[in-house]
Amino acid sequence: MKIVSAEVVVTSPGRNFVTLRITTDEGLTGLGDATLNGRELAVVSYLRDHVAPLLLGRDPHRIEDTWQYLYRGAYWRRGPVTMAAIAAVDMALWDIKGKAAGLPLYQLLGGASREKVATYGHASGRDIPELLDSVREKLALGYPAIRVQTGVPGLKAVYGVGGAEAGTGPDGHPRPLVEDWDTAAYLRHLPGVVEAVRAEFGAELPLLHDAHHRLTPLQAARLGKDLEPYRMFWLEDCTPAENQEALKLVRQHTTTPLAIGEVFNSLHDYQYLLTNQLIDYVRSAVTHFGGVTPLRRLFDLAGQYQIKSAIHGPEDISPVGMAAGIHLDLAIHNFGIQEYSGYTETTHRVFRHAYTFTDGHLHPGEAPGLGVELDEELAAAHPYDPAYLPVNRLQDGTVHDW
Ligand SMILES: [Mg+2]
Repeated sequence: MKIVSAEVVVTSPGRNFVTLRITTDEGLTGLGDATLNGRELAVVSYLRDHVAPLLLGRDPHRIEDTWQYLYRGAYWRRGPVTMAAIAAVDMALWDIKGKAAGLPLYQLLGGASREKVATYGHASGRDIPELLDSVREKLALGYPAIRVQTGVPGLKAVYGVGGAEAGTGPDGHPRPLVEDWDTAAYLRHLPGVVEAVRAEFGAELPLLHDAHHRLTPLQAARLGKDLEPYRMFWLEDCTPAENQEALKLVRQHTTTPLAIGEVFNSLHDYQYLLTNQLIDYVRSAVTHFGGVTPLRRLFDLAGQYQIKSAIHGPEDISPVGMAAGIHLDLAIHNFGIQEYSGYTETTHRVFRHAYTFTDGHLHPGEAPGLGVELDEELAAAHPYDPAYLPVNRLQDGTVHDW
């Protein structure tokens, strides 16, 4: 079998998604997700201009060799653009291998280690009553665990809680939404929020919170201690993730479990954290980590330290990337939890998928490969729509971590 085409499809059925479609001379097609939110077209060019020509004529069954060829062969390694592009190729080749074998991807990964995949949903509110309502809505959908985010008194727009307007530049091009931030106000406010959620919903509901890389190590340590009475499922992205050593200080001071890694794109970004046992959950998505092949390796290494998976699953991971993650979730031993936010109805129609979401749990389904088909006509009806992730500024205007 040989690869005869590798095409990139960009569509925006609510958000922008970049999809690689590889076709073989036997008529099999594979899909891969290459979506890098806010920088989508950089990955499109990487794939179209630099990777697709290298794939023509290759044997699609040689997944490991193709991965190494694209990673080592480029000389320039890692980085989100490169790794999203390689991820799309890797996913598409696993999709083809599954279709050729007539087996869903999770079977190629060793078969199911569990019956279904537990998820967590996002609850958010401008204030505590609004947050409690949002938690109730998520529980009604069956979510077994809930991430809680809330507005902070005195701030206009906070991560996870919308409100600000994105503007446009002089050329009409959109500009990022600007959020505002005050760490001291946040640290004063949050423990009371979690206390209110616990008081309303009891001790058993697993609660998560995302600090979105905004704290210093000492601030994160303080927050972890303050949250200990509420027995959080985890505190996510408490410090900027590129400084791995920061987590050592946090860890020394708190037993609140720590999750990190959604912006990481290689095993090397985790090495210190894993081998020093500084975190409890690894958060990378198939899409941003170079594909199924390296993410499986990450999970296997993490498992040696009793660290569990928690694949990143916001709305900007396409259903193709989501499906790849769900297959891994079902197959690996050290599964922790899967983030799942759902999609617009149009997105579900553009990407018809075999995976199901029932009572807060996902299952990849039994369709061969990833189990996702792209409706090209509908995709074409929703063209690329330039957009950015927000940026974040302190009260005095200083750019802060987002
Ligand atoms: Mg997050």
